[in-house]
Amino acid sequence: MKDNNQLDCVLCSDTGYVNVVVAVPLTTLFTYRVPRSLRGQLTRGKRVLVPFGRKQIIGICWDVMTTLPASVPQKQQIKDILTVLDEQPLVDAAYLQWLEFAADYYATPLGQVLSQAIPSLYLDVQKIGKEHSYKYKPINFSHDFSTKDVVLTNEQNLVYQSLAGHLDEYYPVLLRGVTGSGKTEVYIRVIKTVLQQNKSALFLVPEIGLTPQMLARLNHHFAGSLLVYHSSLTQNQRLSQWQSCLDERPQVLVGTRSALFAPFKNLGVIIVDEEHDHSYKQEERFRYQARNLAVSRARILKIPVIMGSATPSLETYYQVINNKYHLYELHARSGGASLPDIRVIHFGKEREQRKTPLCLSQHIHDAIEHFHKKKKQMLIYVGQRGFAQSAYCASCATIQICPNCSVGLKYHKEGRVLKCHYCDFAKPYDGVCAACHVKGLTLLGFGTQSVADEIGAMHPRVVLTRLDSDAVSNERELRRIFNDFAKHKIDLIVGTQMISKGHDFDNIGFVGILGIDAHLGLPDFRASERSFQNLVQVAGRAGRSDQKGHVLVQSLMPEHPSVQWGIRQDYQKFAQHELALRQALGYPPFSRLVQFRFLSAQEQRLKNFLCEWKTFLDGVTCRTNQLDLQILGPAEMPVAKVRGKYRHHVILKIRRGLKVGDLVAYLRDDLDRRKLRGIQYQIDVDAVGMV
Ligand SMILES: [Zn+2]
Ligand SMILES: [Zn+2]
Repeated sequence: MKDNNQLDCVLCSDTGYVNVVVAVPLTTLFTYRVPRSLRGQLTRGKRVLVPFGRKQIIGICWDVMTTLPASVPQKQQIKDILTVLDEQPLVDAAYLQWLEFAADYYATPLGQVLSQAIPSLYLDVQKIGKEHSYKYKPINFSHDFSTKDVVLTNEQNLVYQSLAGHLDEYYPVLLRGVTGSGKTEVYIRVIKTVLQQNKSALFLVPEIGLTPQMLARLNHHFAGSLLVYHSSLTQNQRLSQWQSCLDERPQVLVGTRSALFAPFKNLGVIIVDEEHDHSYKQEERFRYQARNLAVSRARILKIPVIMGSATPSLETYYQVINNKYHLYELHARSGGASLPDIRVIHFGKEREQRKTPLCLSQHIHDAIEHFHKKKKQMLIYVGQRGFAQSAYCASCATIQICPNCSVGLKYHKEGRVLKCHYCDFAKPYDGVCAACHVKGLTLLGFGTQSVADEIGAMHPRVVLTRLDSDAVSNERELRRIFNDFAKHKIDLIVGTQMISKGHDFDNIGFVGILGIDAHLGLPDFRASERSFQNLVQVAGRAGRSDQKGHVLVQSLMPEHPSVQWGIRQDYQKFAQHELALRQALGYPPFSRLVQFRFLSAQEQRLKNFLCEWKTFLDGVTCRTNQLDLQILGPAEMPVAKVRGKYRHHVILKIRRGLKVGDLVAYLRDDLDRRKLRGIQYQIDVDAVGMV
């Protein structure tokens, strides 16, 4: 075998071996021999068909080598590559470098990163040779929104001019513009300039379905070169959009977080709109934050990345303070509009004084009456969907809990049932407590449905509709509601955070905000940030053009800093306050958090294992500096049981600047060596929702 290899190398100066990455969650690359017939055909980024166990699978050629790498044991039998599937590499070297960075950063197997990045049809053995048969069908933009050409304001123009001077270098930018300041106009101008330079643009948005207006505007400017990519495309559509990205001509791709993996070879700019939005974090399999990966891709390609928001994430803002990102600001609303007038109502006090059974403050009811008379449209934001009512038992002094999950059941009027929002458990509501069997449960709390019912009953002439995931199940329905609202066929929308996303309606006179402080009781250090962002974003829907908007915030914690800085729309003060707190507690952005989650149906088995693993972890902490690494737990997670599985976690708090990937990979390898039975584990680097 060995002699043979040497003979090959002497006779042929071409490649002898390749490392291949395959779409399986394994950390290793696989080495194959290149048979003589395929020599000269292999370059990085091409797909190859390889034998894998008893099967044949498709992988991506990662390294091309002349000799067998030293890491491969000499005795191991090296198999041959079967075919090379592409004439041109599917992705270029910079792209592979970026994926490698992502795998390291998130301590995720390269194969898992690959299966996130590349459309699955490319890796399907059954589809070999048919990948290119699907014809690209342009996506239809049916809409009724007017799309005026906009002239940049002075302020917007200054920002654009400066950005245009940095298009040929890595240039990370936070564009902080108050709500309604016209960030999109700036993006569009930048994209136009990039296209003129024969390069393509990638435009990330939190949710495609919620931004029909934005799509219509982009289509108006970039018809013919606009591509759309999001998670509800079919496999074939994904493949066709991906192939279009390989075109040489400059194009614009707008899409949700997965669009970031588009294989453009001539990318000129990446835009991350509403960069604070939580949908940029993927919570399953490859758990990445698209905003961070956008920055790393831009750094590798030496291009600008523009992150825009009225309420930037503290992580991003911290990079500005440390001079890592450049800050640009838009202080004025377009069309000379002023920021809305926001007031807070102490609802706890009002409820006590009036003994009112209503969900809404009298002030909000008065405002609805007032603005309806003035023919103004209104939005009512509610923190939770449905009735979001818990069933409370006074004799146990607790709420009814799901038997599979450790969370409260919610009352649903349709069918009169108590439902679990974590699993599908449901039971008829008969008013009897499951714990003490006393009849006398009462329903507490409110959601979109109960608020809509109350407004409907008290203001019968107001035409209202509900906008939440229960009421709106598809995009067509959503577009219909937006169109009807734009045409003033609807007076008032009651909705969840769906109403806070970027659409501009110019006749909204009043916004009511309820339940903004609902998150503040959660054991989540990001709760304040989220409440502040929701408040400012929702309030920002009020008032446009020449008219001032009015906002009432109904709160049970009106003195909370999120509420106080929120009603003043003072991002900077809020950020200072919150960053000081985070620093004192050593939370991100002053550290990085890695969550190891452990799930098992058998609680004792889980506890026994974690007890054992704790000893191992203590050994790890002993060998590192206390200031560099803190290990919290193992502990039960705040939601301790979901779908019958017990949940425990270990949280690593790691000082910024330390190589997180290496440490996490070390712990992961240890877990794999233990061959856990009946226990699943998940690793979340830069974890967000830790409940
Ligand atoms: Zn449940
Ligand atoms: Zn009871």
